Amino acid sequence: MSLLVSLEQRSGNKCELCGSSEDLSAYEVAPSDGSADQAVLLCGVCKPQVEGSAEMDESHWHCLNDSMWSEVPAVKVLSYRLLKRLGNQEMLDMMYLEEDEKAWVEAGQSSENSEPTRDSNGTILNAGDSVTIIKDLEVKGAGFTAKRGTVVKNIALTDNPEQIEGRVNGVRIVLLSKFLKKA
Ligand SMILES: [Zn+2]
Repeated sequence: MSLLVSLEQRSGNKCELCGSSEDLSAYEVAPSDGSADQAVLLCGVCKPQVEGSAEMDESHWHCLNDSMWSEVPAVKVLSYRLLKRLGNQEMLDMMYLEEDEKAWVEAGQSSENSEPTRDSNGTILNAGDSVTIIKDLEVKGAGFTAKRGTVVKNIALTDNPEQIEGRVNGVRIVLLSKFLKKA
């Protein structure tokens, strides 16, 4: 069964956020394995706003007051992220997420970050990349200097596109991406 058909059956042919039946399509809630469990059926009004290609229309998102109570984890996770984007702390406080749903919310943060992490040359950095430090950097709190030319393997991204995490001298530290070059 295709992803879209599975979602149409689950939702009864309705947008799983606002209930509209117009212009429905599948949206994968990152990080997703492509299964229906990790996707949501969205309408033509919700989807572009979720994807960030249209501006958020706050009045439309009153629908989240209902979708946040969905029994479908993917719908809950997406609702949570949207409430967060809208800064609706009151609703976020009311929401209850299971441990695995919480982990899903957090796992999607870096991949949904609209601003990519770039090195000193503007090259996009991804988790797992190796980078070279281009300037001696004093590591505050760790008591050593990360030397220019040091290669840092298997970096991790953070919520902040200006910072990455990596291991230098056996210590996991935060490095500013502007002082790095992709190796
Ligand atoms: Zn919708």
